[in-house]
Amino acid sequence: MSLTRQEVLKKAEELNVKFIRLQFVDILGTIKNVAITVEQLPDALDGKIMFDGSSIEGFTRIQESDMYLKPDYDTFTIFPWRPREGAVARLMCDIYTPDGEPFAGCPRSTLKKVIDEAREMGYEMFAGPEPEFFLFERDEKGHPTTITNDKGGYFDLSPLDMGENARRDIVLALEQMGFDVEASHHEVAPGQHEIDFKYTPVLRTADNITTFKFVTKAIALNHNLHATFMPKPIFGENGSGMHVHQSLFKDGENAFYEPDDELGLSKIAYHYIGGVLKHAPAITAITNPTINSYKRLVPGYEAPVYISWSAQNRSALIRVPSARGNGTRIELRNPDPSANPYLAMAVMLKAGLDGIKNEIDPGEQTLDDIFSMSDEERKARGIESLPGNIMEAVNNLKEDKLIKETLGEHIFNHFVEAKEIEWAVYRTQVHQWELEQYLSF
Ligand code: GLU
Ligand code: MG
Ligand code: MG
Repeated sequence: MSLTRQEVLKKAEELNVKFIRLQFVDILGTIKNVAITVEQLPDALDGKIMFDGSSIEGFTRIQESDMYLKPDYDTFTIFPWRPREGAVARLMCDIYTPDGEPFAGCPRSTLKKVIDEAREMGYEMFAGPEPEFFLFERDEKGHPTTITNDKGGYFDLSPLDMGENARRDIVLALEQMGFDVEASHHEVAPGQHEIDFKYTPVLRTADNITTFKFVTKAIALNHNLHATFMPKPIFGENGSGMHVHQSLFKDGENAFYEPDDELGLSKIAYHYIGGVLKHAPAITAITNPTINSYKRLVPGYEAPVYISWSAQNRSALIRVPSARGNGTRIELRNPDPSANPYLAMAVMLKAGLDGIKNEIDPGEQTLDDIFSMSDEERKARGIESLPGNIMEAVNNLKEDKLIKETLGEHIFNHFVEAKEIEWAVYRTQVHQWELEQYLSF
């Protein structure tokens, strides 16, 4: 699908659109809107709508605050849960400076740069995410709680699964917005759900994740529920991950597939895995960007902890699902849905490309259960751990020149600064757990 300016205007008229939200994300991945009316749409499509960048966290200094929004025509879609008379539509945008340059703080432009680099090497990346989330009840005042009244487990059916109605409406809305939803099911923890959508070129995937998150929140609210993408909302239960299936295509063929190889994988695939493993300590800062992210990455909850790959077991950081041919792909299991999807895709792809360029050997796959190995055994096999908290990850990021470069100075500096502040505030809090442990001292 590739829409022209004329086609977008025509669609807006046919669909009775009155309001358009020009959307973009900030460095932390939070979605932002500039609302316009349909009368301003022609100007918007020409990239003439301006906004004050200094009002957005981590965006820009006051002196250079004018920013322009350049919409991607293909992202035009209406919000199906809003009225059809005077409908609301949206367009995803790139941010440009008044000089007509992509703004260095625009995550979508950052991803596009890496996509261009892949294209120069002859590759197109496809990605399919598996975002998980919780649906919680709201209290009388409408505030979110961590209460779930469903006792459903993995793949349970109603009447146990109280979030099922909400999830069905989310899927229907996504489909009306052009998503190809592959699966949707209850997850392991009470109140936890997963909706998987079909793999698409990676820029579209990042747009889809962004859209998916706000659609899920909006529809949950209509059901008086709160949807959260917080990675680990409940101690003792599984957290929410966002596994990302990834493959490269070259000349229309899956570049990860090699029928003559023992595992059916090409050199490109092995090197891509090698690159992702090499940069995993640093890219985890981006794929798992919150303090809470690291409460998920612990043994016992189906989340990865160790840097390894395997075509067989799910305890590895990278799993190679069994499909071959055009379905040949790797699944990276550490990302969580609190990540900025554009930056996450950018650093994963960049790491993989580095693996290909430098023919990085991923080493032997790990066939045994890593969680049952002793520290010594893991050491002997050279299996390192993922960072244990956000500061460790940020420190790894600072040491990884390639990943730093991928983010660019502007985003790198703002990201690190935001994380250091977050850590400083967190570190000085007195948590409930401490009171329970030490109040009797
Ligand atoms: N919820 C698990 C995680 O934190 C993943 C469960 C699954 O394999 O789908 O990654
Ligand atoms: Mg899952
Ligand atoms: Mg998975």
